[in-house]
Amino acid sequence: MTESLVVPTESSASQKPSPAPYVLPAGLAERLARRVVAPARAQTQPCVTPFTGGHLADLPVSTIDSVDHAYRAAGEAQPRWAAQSIADRARMLLRLHDLVLRHQDELLDLIQLESGKTRRQAFEEVLDVAGVCRHYARKASEYLRPRKRLGAIPVLTQTVELRHPKGVVGVVAPWNYPLSMSITDIIPALLAGNAVVVRPDEKAALTALRSFELLDQAGLPEGVLQVVLGDGPTIGKAVLDRADYVMYTGSTRTGRSVARDAAERLIGASLELGGKNAMYVAADANLKAAADCAVRSVFSSAGQLCVSIERLVLHEEIAQEFLTHFVAKVRDMRLGPDLAWGNDMGSLISQQQLDRVTAHVEDARSKGASVLAGGRARPEIGPYFYEPTILEGVTATMACRDEETFGPLVSVYRVSTDDEAVELANDTSYGLNASVFTQDVSRGRALAARIKAGTVNVNDGYIAAWASNGAPMGGMRQSGVGRRHGAEGIHKYTEVQTVAVQHVMPIAPVKGVPEKAWAKGMVLALKAMKAGGLS
Ligand code: NAD
Repeated sequence: MTESLVVPTESSASQKPSPAPYVLPAGLAERLARRVVAPARAQTQPCVTPFTGGHLADLPVSTIDSVDHAYRAAGEAQPRWAAQSIADRARMLLRLHDLVLRHQDELLDLIQLESGKTRRQAFEEVLDVAGVCRHYARKASEYLRPRKRLGAIPVLTQTVELRHPKGVVGVVAPWNYPLSMSITDIIPALLAGNAVVVRPDEKAALTALRSFELLDQAGLPEGVLQVVLGDGPTIGKAVLDRADYVMYTGSTRTGRSVARDAAERLIGASLELGGKNAMYVAADANLKAAADCAVRSVFSSAGQLCVSIERLVLHEEIAQEFLTHFVAKVRDMRLGPDLAWGNDMGSLISQQQLDRVTAHVEDARSKGASVLAGGRARPEIGPYFYEPTILEGVTATMACRDEETFGPLVSVYRVSTDDEAVELANDTSYGLNASVFTQDVSRGRALAARIKAGTVNVNDGYIAAWASNGAPMGGMRQSGVGRRHGAEGIHKYTEVQTVAVQHVMPIAPVKGVPEKAWAKGMVLALKAMKAGGLS
């Protein structure tokens, strides 16, 4: 394992002011910048760390011409890449798996510095990338192999389904998971034989570029992955507007316009969007375990996680006891801007995020909600720190009832039956993730099936479903279209083609046989196929 990359010039204690400026090793940003397609004398954009608001590096900004150039280069490289065997491409991913684990310390530093999250939460990203590499490397041949299908007339018609790469996939990645979100959607696209043009978010660019460097080191041929940097509305949009397939992660608002543009070009799109995810704690739940899990599932990455829990639905019989555990744990959480293990929550990523959380809490407070924990910014720890916050008494007049906060804020609701809990969990326009806590697993499974969310975790908040890499992950309703992970997560990057070979005679009257007799024969054949159980 490599050593940590970045050393703060002063140590910082949690819950205390941290003036420590973080300094990247000399030459790192310049080296990473060489991977960006941008003009020779490109404008630059600053990378800052939310821990202190301090400057880390400058990276080049791409232009529309750069995006065109990236697509030309990717288009040229793609056929050679697609001609390599799946086994070769999969071996590259297993090498990436090892490289990510070997370089985890420097990746953790970069993730933390760019996003402001804790080391433990940054480590979830390392786990995620390794899991996705392993899964797709091991399963790609099965997911992508030609499949025999029953022909129109058994034996006489031989039918095979083939999967071809789409071509060049355009990926716009968000800022909240700088490692995971920048690379895990690319992995299956590459494995399926596509080239990729990616625009990582500017707030996640250093981590993304370092991970692409590891991908190069793992053996990705030159040209296959093109990287551009720039804002979403200009450069992100230009990337998606030229793609043969669109992979977008971000808000539902932006996702709608991305979907409109893709529809106009009749291009497929996978959209991973927002959520207003609920956790139901049933009357028979293990309350200590549920409270521990709620802390992790609400406040991971300071709530800037699409699958994080923003609504806690408690059965009234256990609500008070659960809250006693939960509120105490939340009040006890350690906040800090350290590149070290041990903190429970880090910073929000930007002033914009801080403003949104503050606005949601103030709006609810001014309309009568009670603050059970938190409820204020902590500028003495870092410019965008906000306390983990629990609200009760949230009503439909308050913005945080239905709008996604995407911050460290959860609202508590009490219900008197399981049916009421399901109804409340489904009372949202979103449908990304949900959680059910109960000691009766079959009851948990039954409740889960009634919740309109793409993933539901029983006795967990989000990791169980997210990290089940063989199973699809994504949103119902306003939370998105398409899925990542599993077969769906790689098949979406392929164009499926049916090749059917007809032998001996056509599926049409043959010369000399009257049409009526042929039709009778076909009816007999259909009946025989039904009786034979053919599908
Ligand atoms: P946002 O929609 O403003 O921006 C998200 C990303 O889209 C950014 O990288 C931005 O640069 C880019 N973008 C903006 N306009 C674009 C355009 N016209 N074309 C292409 N790209 C464009 O959202 P935000 O407030 O920055 O991010 C938070 C939102 O993202 C939340 O709603 C959250 O739930 C969602 N999100 C979802 C997932 C998921 O997997 N479902 C993961 C992370 C974030």
